[in-house]
Amino acid sequence: MGDRGEREQIEPLSVRVWINPKPVRASPMLEKFPSAGAGPSLAYEHADAAALDELRYQAQPCMRCDLYRNATHLVFGEGPETADVVLVGEQPGDKEDLVGRPFIGPAGHLLDQCLQEVGIDRDRCYITNAVKHFKYQLRGKKRLHARPNAGEVQRCAWWLGAELELLRPKLVVALGATAVSSLLGSKIKVMRDRGRIIHPSGKFDVLVTIHPSALLRIRESEEREKSRLTFIKDLKKIRSFLRH
Ligand code: SF4
Repeated sequence: MGDRGEREQIEPLSVRVWINPKPVRASPMLEKFPSAGAGPSLAYEHADAAALDELRYQAQPCMRCDLYRNATHLVFGEGPETADVVLVGEQPGDKEDLVGRPFIGPAGHLLDQCLQEVGIDRDRCYITNAVKHFKYQLRGKKRLHARPNAGEVQRCAWWLGAELELLRPKLVVALGATAVSSLLGSKIKVMRDRGRIIHPSGKFDVLVTIHPSALLRIRESEEREKSRLTFIKDLKKIRSFLRH
């Protein structure tokens, strides 16, 4: 394993959503789907569109998994088509679901602050999620975040793979375990591998780091600040991938 911050080659893993030279249009309803844990099977399939607007339009009626049933909006990625850097989170949260835009809730604000602190303008990045619909559990009137399962992540890689194929960024930042598993498979672990830049596909690098919501969950202020500074250190690695 190379030093942190160096680009590393890894053996091909499971989800290579972007490497298929011939995107396959499959019928989601007819497609066989493996049990969770069998390894992502949509590795070489993703949607096919000429531009992000077209892809966004295609995605709106998506029923590839059940998450569309209880969500308000499909939350697609946003940002410039020419972005050198793509940030990939887990899934929309409560506010994102209601408004229909990614990373506009508390975790998004914290991410914005951290990006600003390292001198990165969020508007220069494309920001999206591994899963496009909000998964939650109802507690009274509250909608509490529920983690998408492996099958849902695999299903939604259909859209993420197409976004990356169209964007062809230099760097993809995997924010948290769900994004890491969608982009790199199960062998890469966030807490063990954070800060590494991995080169899985021959097309772009992937920086592994935490999801900013993890910082919001830390109650003890000293610990939270320590983790925030480590997150900042990870984000600094983005700068060299941005055109000046
Ligand atoms: S979560 Fe993704 S795969 Fe599932 S219905 Fe929504 S857009 Fe489709």
